[in-house]
Parts: sequence; C-alpha cells; structure tokens
Amino acid sequence: MSGPSPAPSLLRIPFTEGTIRYRARWIFPVTSPPLESATIEIVGGRVAAIHTRHEPRAIDLCNTALIPGLVNAHTHLEFSGLAAPLGPAAPFPDWIQSVVTHRNTRTLGIAELVSTGWGESVANGVTALGEIATDDLIFGAAARCGFRGVVFRELLGFSPDRIDAQWEVARHHLEAARELQNPALSGGLSPHAPYSVHPRLFERLVELAIAESAPVAMHLAETRDELELLSQGTGTFRRLLESFGIWRDDVLARGSRPLDYLRILARAPRSLVVHGNYLAADEIEFLAGQPQVTVVYCPRTHAYFGHSPHPWREMLRRGIPVALGTDSRASNPDLSLWGEVMFLRRKVTDFPPDKLLEMATGAGARALGMKESGAIAVGALAEIACVPLKGDATEAYCHLLSP
Ligand SMILES: [Zn+2]
Repeated sequence: MSGPSPAPSLLRIPFTEGTIRYRARWIFPVTSPPLESATIEIVGGRVAAIHTRHEPRAIDLCNTALIPGLVNAHTHLEFSGLAAPLGPAAPFPDWIQSVVTHRNTRTLGIAELVSTGWGESVANGVTALGEIATDDLIFGAAARCGFRGVVFRELLGFSPDRIDAQWEVARHHLEAARELQNPALSGGLSPHAPYSVHPRLFERLVELAIAESAPVAMHLAETRDELELLSQGTGTFRRLLESFGIWRDDVLARGSRPLDYLRILARAPRSLVVHGNYLAADEIEFLAGQPQVTVVYCPRTHAYFGHSPHPWREMLRRGIPVALGTDSRASNPDLSLWGEVMFLRRKVTDFPPDKLLEMATGAGARALGMKESGAIAVGALAEIACVPLKGDATEAYCHLLSP
C-alpha cells in the first residue's frame, strides 16, 4: 500500500426498472462485518441484497470499497465560500467577532453558499448534513440543490426583549419545514449557545421542539471562557457581549453550568450537543443515561482552536452516542467528513476502525433521525459511497482506512 486512502464519492445509481448490481473488493455494511469480493443488488433505489456469490451481471467497480454515505452531523454552509478558516483561533470571542464581520460583509448569497457547500459535501461522499441556518431562504436553496438532512434554525437572543421574536422565527421555521413534505429534508432548532441565548428563550425553544417533535442542536461547553461566563459572569465573553451592547447582569444566574442546559436539552425527542469539549465528569455521567442526546465531535475544528483533549472516547465507553461533524469552513479547511475520519485514524491509532466508520455514518444518521441512512442494509435506501483503494490488503479496515 502507498499513501492515505482517497476520499469517497457518492455512487450515482442510474434509475432503472430492474435490478442493478455492483461488485467491489469490499462492502462495509457497518452494521455487520465487511464482505470481500461482494455484490450489492439495488432495486428502486433500495438495497435488495448483499452477497459474495459470483454474479456475472454485476458492474465491476474493481479495487474499491462501498461504504454507507457519510453523515456530517454539524456544519454551517453559510461559510462555504471561505478559502481558509477565519482567524484568530484564540481567544475564542475574537474569532466570534471575525465570524460576525464576515457575515456582514460577504458578497455571495445564501443560495450560492448552500449549493457550493452541499456540492463539496457530496463530492466527498456525504449523503446527509446537520446544517445550522441563519436565513429564512434556506429551504428553497436547500431543496433546489438536492440537500438531504436536517436544517436547524439558529436562534440568537441574549436580551429578554428578543425572546418572543426569536420564538416566532423558530415556529415559522418548523412550519415551513413541515409544509415542504420532503422526506429527505426536515427542520430542527438550534439555540446557538449559552452565551448568546437567554435561558428563558432556550427553555421555550426546547418546549416548542417537544411540541413539534423536532430535534435541537446547541453549541455547548465549547470553551473555558463559556464556563467562566456561566459560573461567574466574567471573562472574555462578557467583554464581547458588552462590546455588542447586549450584556445584562441578571440574565445568567451565578453558578450556572452546562449541566443546567443538558437537563433541558435531554427533554427534547432528540438533541445534539455540539462540541461538549469541556463537559465535566458529572455531566458525562448525566449524558450516559440519555441515549436521545448525541455529542457531535468536530475533530479538526477542535484541533484548530487548540482545545484540551476531547472526552469522546470516555463518552463512547459510557455508551453516549458520539457523531462526527466538520463544523464550518470558518474553522476547518474543507467540508470533508472523510477528512475527519482520516485525521482521527492517524491521531488515535489504537481506536477500532469499525467504530470510527460508525461514528461517521450510523451515529450521525440516528442523531438526525434519518433511519434509512447510515448503513448498507437490505431494505434501506441505497445511499452508498465508493472509496477507491490503493494497493492490496487482506484486512478490510486496514485497506479502507490506510493512514
Ligand atoms: Zn458550529
């Protein structure tokens, strides 16, 4: 073998009345062990069979691996036009300031950015996204480019006088999602983060999500600055909020912590804790009893900001669902979830590769409520990515994830 495994691309399966068959060196169903020299049969866009019998009618994909389409559980496509991450990476509130400035000065429209980001995702084997949207035009743009996944509407409002208006934005978003009647595209809510959302607005948004059976995604325990703001009302985030003219001393109760938010998030039918970099031991303990809550780890974004090691392996040991995300191009050089997989493969060499692939497929699909994605299984949608392999190897995962 030579060099790292190339990125996958989604298999474009032509529509046909009959059965279409592909043979590949390996097929990775993810929910069961890999099959060598295997054939997949597809009928009407769904997987009809997977087997290792010789099938002369199969299209031979030669030295490739078929894996489920990847699921990127967290991104913001509005930053898809960036050629490089925004700086500075630290202190974090300064990066937030750069994000705000970029948002106010960029020239590309949301439709073009969504289309660009979705195109880049598909070109890297992604079949579904957990997208955080700040624009009401998102559904039209997403539907036009064939987007699949959940569009979480970002809600921002630290001041109490914004609560009613932001709640109304959320209600409208879920209504618009429902009216689409698109099984591949659904709506969710994203109260942005504890430093940007009034606690009462956060609670009301979760109540709305429960009433509408919608998922919730929140950036939580991302930085130590956030923990300081919650516990003491001091630090760089306070200075940032003061510079925006929105700091109020009575919004966050002293002694607040991510656990207060986790308890409320856990009431939603499904929720995504984005990052969770600095969750404490008792907060991880709490999550261990909440299988409806998925932690989304964004490895290269985590590294970009130079955070302390992420507790994702401890979370997995405790049975907490952990999915992978790229986050946006504002903190990552690209939107390739495969890039995250290979980054971890090189960095954490003793981690089981089958579990790594599961984090990039099934875990994200479950977090987004996409029951028919994330695995190659009989009866499931044929959302399949094809990985060109290098050289030869007798062990399937070594061949697929050659670092
Ligand atoms: Zn994010």
